[in-house]
This record gives sequence, C-alpha cells and structure tokens, in this order.
Amino acid sequence: MNVPENAFFHIHTFRCGHAAMVPDEAYVRKAIELHAGSIWFSDHAPFPGDPLHHMMSVTELDGYLETIHTLKHRYAGQIDVHAGLEIEYFPSFDRSGWYRQLKDDERIEFLMIGQHMAEIKPGHFSFEWDKERLARDEYRVLGEAVIAGIESGYFDFVAHPDRSFRAKRAWDDDMTALSRRIIGAAAKADIPLEKNKLSARMAYNFWPEFWRLLTPANRVITGLDAHSVEDMAERAFAGLPEI
Ligand SMILES: [Zn+2]
Ligand SMILES: [Zn+2]
Repeated sequence: MNVPENAFFHIHTFRCGHAAMVPDEAYVRKAIELHAGSIWFSDHAPFPGDPLHHMMSVTELDGYLETIHTLKHRYAGQIDVHAGLEIEYFPSFDRSGWYRQLKDDERIEFLMIGQHMAEIKPGHFSFEWDKERLARDEYRVLGEAVIAGIESGYFDFVAHPDRSFRAKRAWDDDMTALSRRIIGAAAKADIPLEKNKLSARMAYNFWPEFWRLLTPANRVITGLDAHSVEDMAERAFAGLPEI
C-alpha cells in the first residue's frame, strides 16, 4: 500500500480512551485547512472480549468504520480519507481468526502492527512483568512479535518498530541483531516501517541506531501518531531527529 507525499498518517480518535474527545470530522476539517492530500485514521483496534484497555471496545468498531466512511464520501474531492487500524500481534488472536476477520472486512483499508505489549502466554501480556524484567526482556518479546506479525501477512505497515527498545538505555549488539531481523522481514514482505513523530519526542523511543540499519530494499513512512487535532497540526510540520 502506498502512502503519497503530503499525507497525514496515523491518526487516533476519542474511542481509544486516551485521545481528545472530539468528533472525527474535526481531524478531517483541520487536515483540509492545512492542505493535506490524505488523512489516514488508524485507531487502536479492539480484541474480542475486550481484554485490554488502551483501545476501543469491540462494540465501537462498526461506528468507527461507518463514521470514517461517511467522512470519506463527504469530503471526496477535497481530501482522501482512509480507514485503518493499529493493532498488536497476539498469537492467540491469530489462532482464533481475529486478524483474518479484520483483514477480510472491506471497510478496513489497512492494518498497521503497533506492538505496545506482547502476549507471553495465552491471555498473559508483557505488562504483567516488573520493571526489572521489562528492562531486561521487553524488547525481545516486542521485537519477536513484530517479526511474527510481519510474517503473518496481515499487516500493511509497521508502526514505530524502534519503540520496541523503549526500556533499553544504551544500544548493544543484541539490539542490532534483532533490528536486522525486523528490517529484513519488512523488506521481504515489502511493508513500510514507520518513523513516528510521537516516538521522536519520547526518551528512548526513537533510535537512530535502528534507522541506520535500513537497506535500499526498505520502505519508510512518517507517522504523526496524533491523539488530538492539535497533535496532528503541530506534528505535521515538525522535523524528525537526524539519523
Ligand atoms: Zn494511542
Ligand atoms: Zn498510534
């Protein structure tokens, strides 16, 4: 999937519970005002049973997709509006067919893997670990989940791959080895890796060492990870750190 220049990519909505309580239309109107060519909504996808809390609930998914599609038609000719989801890769939800169901839903134009936690055994997640364990092992389980997700074939983009290393404080050879595997998997699957402008503002979430390992076979996109209209407007024109 190609994201043209002048895209406002990676926009959240109020449904995830940690974004501004504004109508989705407010993002579209502001994007038009700022002369964006397209806007790509990728709110945090729900999981059946709603086991986690930083995402919309399953009952909100239809409303989300219907609203974005209404906006797509309402603003056609002024801006291209795209409906997608950002979602973790959890093996037990792959076995139960959830990703297949989302991918087959014609209203969902793209799925982006955004691995904020990993499933360490069925129904259990890495956020259950203590700080010490997270500092030592989180990047491995996040990175492995990203690789498994890319290889699953469900995803069109990888959000903030370098955020896997957020609990690390210094770059090391093991991080290089894991990064090369993520980068290689993305190249093989021809999936863009996202340089994320929210990560760029957070200590230890944006790693130039990761981006220096990219090869000519990799595609890159820039995402705003906006959780408010103000985020979107401000990050749209902000730069990224030097690589
Ligand atoms: Zn979020
Ligand atoms: Zn996001």
